[in-house]
Amino acid sequence: MIDKRLLRASRRVSSLLIVTVILGIVAAGLAVAQAYALSHVVAEAFLNKAVLTSLWTPLVWILGIILLRGVVQWLSAIVAQEAAIRVKENIREQFLKALIQLGPLYARGERAGELVNTAVEGIESLEDYFARYLPQLAMAGLIPLFMLFYIFPLDYQTALVLLVTGPIIPVFMMLIGKLAEKKSLQQWRALSWMSAHFLDMLQGLATLKVFGRSKDQARVIGRVSESFRKTTLSVLRIAFLSALVLEFMTTISTALVAVALGVRLVYGKIIFEEALFLLVITPEFYLPLRNLGLRFHASLSGVNAANRIYEVLNQIENLTEDTEDLGNDELCLQSGSKPSELELAKANIIFRNVSLVYDADGLAALDGVDLEIRPGEHVALVGPSGAGKSTVFSLLMHFIKPTKGEIIIAGTPLEQLPAAQWRSQIAYLSQQPYLFSGTIEENIRLARPEALDSEVREAAEKAAAHEFIMTFPNGYQTLVGEGGARLSGGQAQRIAIARAFLKNASLLLLDEATEGLDAESEHVIQDSLSELMKGRTVLMIAHRLNTVCQADRILVLDHGKIAETGSHQELLQRQGLYAQFVREYRGETA
Ligand code: ADP
Repeated sequence: MIDKRLLRASRRVSSLLIVTVILGIVAAGLAVAQAYALSHVVAEAFLNKAVLTSLWTPLVWILGIILLRGVVQWLSAIVAQEAAIRVKENIREQFLKALIQLGPLYARGERAGELVNTAVEGIESLEDYFARYLPQLAMAGLIPLFMLFYIFPLDYQTALVLLVTGPIIPVFMMLIGKLAEKKSLQQWRALSWMSAHFLDMLQGLATLKVFGRSKDQARVIGRVSESFRKTTLSVLRIAFLSALVLEFMTTISTALVAVALGVRLVYGKIIFEEALFLLVITPEFYLPLRNLGLRFHASLSGVNAANRIYEVLNQIENLTEDTEDLGNDELCLQSGSKPSELELAKANIIFRNVSLVYDADGLAALDGVDLEIRPGEHVALVGPSGAGKSTVFSLLMHFIKPTKGEIIIAGTPLEQLPAAQWRSQIAYLSQQPYLFSGTIEENIRLARPEALDSEVREAAEKAAAHEFIMTFPNGYQTLVGEGGARLSGGQAQRIAIARAFLKNASLLLLDEATEGLDAESEHVIQDSLSELMKGRTVLMIAHRLNTVCQADRILVLDHGKIAETGSHQELLQRQGLYAQFVREYRGETA
């Protein structure tokens, strides 16, 4: 009933939670005082025929207690809320950090919609756990106990009834808990599945429409939401059923106490005022237990989300165990001489017998690659899809480490270089440049946040982006990304090139776009790319023959191995895979 990891997460707000529980206990104490005052007033008014004037003082007391109780409960709720917000914030931060550390390769292997659902909805649903369930758990344990201590000396018979009936509620909860947990897990899975599916569909809308499959997908979404509806209803059914049973049990138990008190009252074994007090206080005894039952159900979706959150967080622990340092820059800083920025910029990049296997039982994406790239050299990677080209990039960007062999830069294995230091040497241009929601300026500045305005502008000019940026009414302050101006593919590319200019890194990793841009954009982009490549080491995944031809050296990858290497002419003469690639290319584009 208590998730240990969540309990650990709540330690940082333990003082707030303790205050919540103390306030809850104070509120319960006030309930006792209220019951006491009430039974006194009723006894005075009905049995002793007291007049209103003599009852004023206790009546004011009752009113005061009711008000104070309200205030204390409100305070308790606020403090609990604050605690929950802090824990949620912390968990969200950890989750995001974990995703960043795990890197793009991990996120690509997961379903984005499901991760988003966990990060937003999932973490949000933890509020019920921290703000309501956890404090209630303590209160349900303490308040009835305190009340028993108070009631026992007063009337041991009632206390005995309470003592016997009280524990039935938690036992019942435990019985129904397993079933509720199972149903709630199904509901959470259905929700994640639905979010993931929805995002997949949105992202693939163009493809689906082109292939005339959007209706099928709408049907799938319909089915997924139907299953979500069903699981939600079954969760609600259990929650309502359990609320009903709890209500029933507390009513029966209260009735039991009432009957016992009534019988003793008839036989004059107990005085009226005391009996009334006990009767009024009995529901207050069960209240924390009943609330615990209700809150338990509400907290379940948070627990399920937590399971997923910790699954991602645990990946990092595995990561640091397995690979020691990937993405964890502090750990990379081992003693010994480290190459300076300048040495890194001027160093050869050496792959020594590098192999990479993604899945333990899968085939090698790279298989014993030996490679040396000299500073300033322009190397084109070609090869069929799945040959391992992107894997070379992922390795160079420090997103993964070789399963075998090593990559050496300036005499140091890449794994031992702090990832951030090494990445500062790299500019990466992907096939589809990613623009964040924000202004054009912010998007360019991403490469070097501290750059001067003039530098940003200069970079944009070099990337042939300045002109079109100035056609927008807000110029560099134009919002792009979601909800912002819609840039054409070519314009987005130019912003990305401006970023690379601004970064001014010594190594350029270029994943050439396969999709055709319009002839004019392509021309402009080619020009600025050529300018960008000057004086830098360039490794590009090339798809177009004219880019490939211009490279100093071409590496032909096939099934994770370097099949051929040489210049365009040399490779053509060999009549191998490259010559075949060229023939196919010419055939297709002729
Ligand atoms: P290319 O870029 O030449 O198309 P990749 O480097 O992407 O080739 O892929 C090489 C091989 O590794 C392929 O068989 C691909 O299926 C596999 N692969 C690539 N990325 C992953 C990954 N994240 N997890 C598992 N396998 C992968």
